This record gives sequence, structure tokens and C-alpha cells, in this order.
Amino acid sequence: MNIILSGVKPTGIPTLGNYLGAFKSFAKMQKEMSDYEIFMFVADMHAITVPQNPQELRKNIKNVAALYLACGLSPENLTLFLQSEISEHLELGYVMQSLCYMGELERMTQFKDKMAKQETSITSALFTYPALMAADILLYDAKYVPIGDDQKQHLELARDLAVRFNNRFGETFTVPEGIITKTGARIMDLQNPTKKMSKSVDGDKGCIYLLDPINVVKKKIKSAVTDNFAKVHYDVENQPGVSNLMTIYSAITEMSYDEIEAKYAGKGYGDFKSDLAEIVGDEVSKIQEKYNYYINTKELDELLNKGRDKAKVFAQRKLKKIYHKLGLGRY
Ligand code: ATP
Ligand code: MG
Repeated sequence: MNIILSGVKPTGIPTLGNYLGAFKSFAKMQKEMSDYEIFMFVADMHAITVPQNPQELRKNIKNVAALYLACGLSPENLTLFLQSEISEHLELGYVMQSLCYMGELERMTQFKDKMAKQETSITSALFTYPALMAADILLYDAKYVPIGDDQKQHLELARDLAVRFNNRFGETFTVPEGIITKTGARIMDLQNPTKKMSKSVDGDKGCIYLLDPINVVKKKIKSAVTDNFAKVHYDVENQPGVSNLMTIYSAITEMSYDEIEAKYAGKGYGDFKSDLAEIVGDEVSKIQEKYNYYINTKELDELLNKGRDKAKVFAQRKLKKIYHKLGLGRY
């Protein structure tokens, strides 16, 4: 059986970046690749690599699960579960750590970025997190992993570890392939367009959270940083703010950059921004409508129970094989 798998950390309210870079493509894939099984999990174990407030974490876990569905994933042909409810992720995570070199983890740019920001409070789990992420994927022999562009390096490591294990212990893991959406590959902060929009980073104004009130969503778009060129033109180097807004525009409307440029030729940023504010506002309000349904019904918990039971069967079976290959245990 072929599996598409992805996870999102409940480190805050998911953002427009998460939606355009990840959630949106999950739904598309589910429709287009109907002969694949879709496994989606809430990566709550990854969330605690940085400090979390337990009450908020519990809420965020439910929010991420509900938003998967609100962003268009259909509950049919979907295995939706929490990472912390399948202990095999951690067990295989340890196995992956025993295959993975310090140097490989030290090279991860996300770790280096966080290191630069947090200085002394980096946990060892944050350092080893890519090994756990490799386990998340390899445990289910996922063939495709839809991810945002920022996860490319981690996926590459998962592939290396799969190949390393297979070479040492015999064919065991499917080597996963990342699927990165063309548009919306990386949405940047609206106030600081050289930094990626991130749910766990403070800086409220530059980040659109999927549960923001719609008037706030629109206001954030309208007050996004642009430049003095007064020309809607895609040029990441010289016009990073406008280019980021064009990326958002294009990802939602599926218009190309050329088409957007032509539409706003000779106009300033005012029209462009107000149109985009409406476009994003409409998109987010559709998501919130479905979110409100799922967060208030028993259906979400039922789906999570069903997903947990199914994922558990897969995970247990796979881990047993892996331990056997490694020579662990008595059989
Ligand atoms: P954190 O700040 O806690 O790392 P995050 O916003 O980066 O949160 P993740 O849970 O790490 O979110 O990632 C969830 C998915 O969203 C991943 O597939 C990731 O590649 C994608 N993603 C995250 N940020 C962006 C972004 N700014 N643009 C596009 N895709 C993104
Ligand atoms: Mg991230």
C-alpha cells in the first residue's frame, strides 16, 4: 500500500504559511491521488522541544486536528492521529538517533537558526528532532511527504537514514520523497519579508493566524510592508514584500505572476492590497466555518480514535521487524 504522510506541530495557531505551504496541498493530493492512503498526524512530541504551556498545548492539538479537516481534507480515506498516542514513533526515533551523526544534526539550518535566536535554552530534543521526524515518516513507509520548502533539509536526512539502514541491515524502509508545492512554497512574514511566517515566533502583525478574526486578517494584509517602487512586480531580491504578497495571491487564485502583474499594471499598491485582503479574508473565512463545525462536534475525537487504532497496527508491525533486523530482543 502506498502512503502519503505529513505532520504539523501544535506550537501555536497554524498560519497562512502553514495553509498555503502544507495544508492546502494535503487536500489537493487526497483528491488527485485517490489510490494512496493519507496519514496525517499532529506532531505534539515535536512541540515540546520548545517550552509549551500545557493548557494551550492541549487546545492547539485539537486546533491543528480540526484545521486539517477545515482546510479541505476529507475524513474518508484519512488516518488522522496524534504522534504522542503512538509510542513507536519515539522508539524508532531512538533507533534513528543511533544511526544519525552529530555532524548531520549540527548542519540543520533550522537548528542553527533557533540556536542563534535562543542562545542558551536549546534543548537536546530540539537538536535530535530531525531523527524523530525521520522515524515519523519511515515508520509507515510513507512514499510521499508533502512539506513546505523549509523542511527540505530534514526530509533529505530522513532519506539518508533510510538508505543507511537499508544498506546495513537489508531492505527495510521505503525511501520517502518530498512533495513541495510550487506556489506558496515559503510564505514570509508580512512585516519582515526576509523571515518565514512562523506560528511559534512572536510578531503578531506579520503573521496571519488561521483563527484570526477576518477584519484582523484583512488589516494585516493591508499593513504589510512593501517598498517605494510602486509597481506590482515579482522580484524577491529587490521587492521582497510585494513578491511575498504576490506569492500569497497566486497560491490562492492560481493566477501566475505575469497575470497578476498585468492586472495591476500602472496601479499602485492600494488596489492590489485591498483585493488581496478580500481574497485572503474569503479563503480564511471558509476555513473558519468548517473549523467551527469540527471543533464543536464529537466527530473529531471519533476520527482521532479511529486514526490512532489504525496507525498503531502499522507501527507495531513495522517496529517489530526493525528490532528483529537490529538484533534487539530475544527472537
Ligand atoms: P514552528 O515555528 O513551530 O516551526 P511552523 O509554522 O514552521 O511552526 P511547522 O509545524 O514546523 O510550522 O510546519 C508545518 C508545515 O507547514 C510544514 O510542512 C512546513 O514546511 C510548512 N510551513 C511552515 N511554515 C511555512 C511557511 N512560512 N511557508 C510555507 N510553508 C510553511
Ligand atoms: Mg517549522
